[in-house]
Amino acid sequence: MTHPTVLILLGPPGAGKGTQARMLEEKFGLVQLSTGDLLRAAVAAGTKAGKAAKAVMEAGELVSDAIVLAILKDRLTEPDTAKGVILDGFPRTPGQAEALDALLAEQDLKISAAVSIEVDDAAMVERVSGRYTCGSCGEGYHDSFKQPVNAGTCDKCGSTEFKRRADDNAETVGARLTAYHAQTAPLIAYYETRGVLRTVDGMSAIETIAADLDAVVTQVSA
Ligand code: ADP
Ligand code: ADP
Ligand code: ZN
Repeated sequence: MTHPTVLILLGPPGAGKGTQARMLEEKFGLVQLSTGDLLRAAVAAGTKAGKAAKAVMEAGELVSDAIVLAILKDRLTEPDTAKGVILDGFPRTPGQAEALDALLAEQDLKISAAVSIEVDDAAMVERVSGRYTCGSCGEGYHDSFKQPVNAGTCDKCGSTEFKRRADDNAETVGARLTAYHAQTAPLIAYYETRGVLRTVDGMSAIETIAADLDAVVTQVSA
């Protein structure tokens, strides 16, 4: 029996993790687990974790490992994750990476690949400040780089409602990049040591990166 795929997407804010994760979901039947999305849902629902996370997220800092791990574990108990998962935005600290190793070991699972999507800091502000998503299906768009085919209408579901994130502004992005370099970038070496690191050029076009990731997933799931 083949093992379920466990793919980690590593990269700074705006690297294209969410964009690529959604494409991989469609192509490989994997499930995207975005801790950012899970946290935003908790904030919107006004749960205890959401209340604790809200101000931290708005400041562009990282939510505590305890909260993030609780939310992720909860999501992993849902049966749709059995075929394989794409971890988008998790782990983001060495503590989370160690907790993930322990969690996977308990279930006799292992990391298929950790893909670092490499992008210039200079591109991040533009990527993040032009980002918006469909309010109905969550499809991602960008003011300059990825517009809907018919202006104002989601390509995927036809909705005409779009939204922007509270933290996608030029002021917060600096703090998010600082958090990335201080707490998340060290994971690149962590996964290199474990022999599961792959890198893709995140400055390429969306379709080029998608093809690179396809090759990685096809190889690691063989
Ligand atoms: P992340 O999940 O890593 O924060 P997203 O996937 O949300 O990043 O992408 C950030 C923004 O940049 C979105 O508006 C998206 O449409 C756009 N984008 C994603 N990948 C690329 C790319 N390779 N080139 C140009 N724009 C991109
Ligand atoms: P992006 O990829 O654009 O940085 P995310 O949607 O992944 O955005 O995360 C948004 C915010 O949610 C982060 O700035 C942070 O406050 C919080 N967050 C998401 N994932 C984690 C995580 N694994 N650990 C700590 N905080 C997280
Ligand atoms: Zn939509």
